[in-house]
Amino acid sequence: MLQIPFENRYVNLGDRFYELIKPAPVASPSLIRFNDELAQVLGISATDLSEIDLAAVFSGNVIPDGAEPLAMAYAGHQFAHFSPQLGDGRALLLGELRAANGTSFDVHLKGSGRTAFSRNGDGRAALGPVLREYLVSEAMVNLNVPTTRALAAVTTGEQVVREQLLPGGVITRVAESFVRVGTFQYFSSRRDVDAVRQLADYMIERSYPDAAQAETPYVAFFQGVLERQARLIAKWMQLGFIHGVMNTDNMSIAGETIDYGPCAFMDAYAHDQVFSSIDQQGRYAYNNQPGIGIWNLSRLAEAILPLLADNEDDPIELAKSLLQGYADEYERAWLDGMRTKFGITAVANKDADDQALIKDLLNVMAANRADFTLTFYHLSKLDAQASETDRDCRLLFDRPDEFDDWVVQWRERLSLETHSDEQRQASMRAVNPVYIPRNHQIEAAIRAAEDHGDFSVFHELHEVLQNPFTEQAGKERYQLPPEPEEVVQYTFCGT
Ligand code: AMP
Ligand code: MG
Repeated sequence: MLQIPFENRYVNLGDRFYELIKPAPVASPSLIRFNDELAQVLGISATDLSEIDLAAVFSGNVIPDGAEPLAMAYAGHQFAHFSPQLGDGRALLLGELRAANGTSFDVHLKGSGRTAFSRNGDGRAALGPVLREYLVSEAMVNLNVPTTRALAAVTTGEQVVREQLLPGGVITRVAESFVRVGTFQYFSSRRDVDAVRQLADYMIERSYPDAAQAETPYVAFFQGVLERQARLIAKWMQLGFIHGVMNTDNMSIAGETIDYGPCAFMDAYAHDQVFSSIDQQGRYAYNNQPGIGIWNLSRLAEAILPLLADNEDDPIELAKSLLQGYADEYERAWLDGMRTKFGITAVANKDADDQALIKDLLNVMAANRADFTLTFYHLSKLDAQASETDRDCRLLFDRPDEFDDWVVQWRERLSLETHSDEQRQASMRAVNPVYIPRNHQIEAAIRAAEDHGDFSVFHELHEVLQNPFTEQAGKERYQLPPEPEEVVQYTFCGT
């Protein structure tokens, strides 16, 4: 039997918070991948289990000892429209566990059958989105971005009905917590302040223990959430990542990237890039993400306003000033991270100039449709003096002379730095990836799996993305942007 050190606390919050429900069995589960490395971190001992046993557990057919499966209730603003009841419609919290290092994690099945929150949905997931989430979330880990992780993926041996019949899958996701901004909104919209307080106390205990010691714990908690979100979104921006559906129900209180749907990394740079087929107004476009962060966190502020009022006469003013803190933290995190990408360090009185230098390159990239990842990859190889190496970088630009003009300014700025070329290049290479999960490669992995039952493309891509900052011999093609016929214009939620 699988040994998982469960320690379920969410269930103690009471039945307003969830529906207790078991996964609905699937016909014929088969293991695609089990994440041994993550299992070890979590203290899950699975060494003597066969693939058949693992597939049984991670499809939901066998419930491990100590699990208390439940579907979490939440609400959320979807594309700015409030839905008072969403909740886990095709997912379950299998249980919470405490890892060897003392951190608690939630283990969630996605695609595990209908729940009280399914509305008209079938409670299932198609294989394609399962593979996409597995690849992108595990790539994010290795790109040093806070994220939910993938513990296992299985096929179900059943088909799901979407626009066409598709093979079904279940992904097991692990998060520091699956509590969302929308979880607070669920109780706040029901005027259940006790539940809002219970939930905040639970999240303080789980993820923000320092806040419990603060003079005003709920203020410190909110500040902690703001800070983590600001840093998270700055990281997305620095990698050209577009979440695609930043509804308040898809924003984690623990500050992790959560609910991978139509997400994508950009190839050619465009400020307003959108991939999601349902985001027709571009609400969740690349450049809108920091602002959507503040919009969503304003909804969280509204939901916890009664708690912020504990020691404060004017909680709305307080919330506003705290939200300004998010904007400041985001700017700081963005500039710090971008400086590292550009190989420059903080120098007194240079913030505005550096911001301008960074934005100038982004503008030149946009005007020239330069590949985001390759631009920084090649920039990381340049010397402080012009040399032959410049060629690879400038050729990414439709009009290379526009890059030439910019690079002169960059080199002027480098003259203020004390590092050698080697030191600067090494620190740039540590943040500018060689490989990202490019859309067309994810698509190729999905096509092979769905159309031919061939998971080798998925496994190979996964393998390359384990070390995104290291050049791997023979894997050069994973660096390449799509050929015109490979370009993926739209991504889908797959729900
Ligand atoms: P998402 O697009 O994954 O953020 O989901 C938004 C809401 O729709 C959540 O409440 C989901 O649980 C629900 N949902 C999405 N797909 C399904 C499905 N196939 N069956 C039931 N509920 C679903
Ligand atoms: Mg969601």
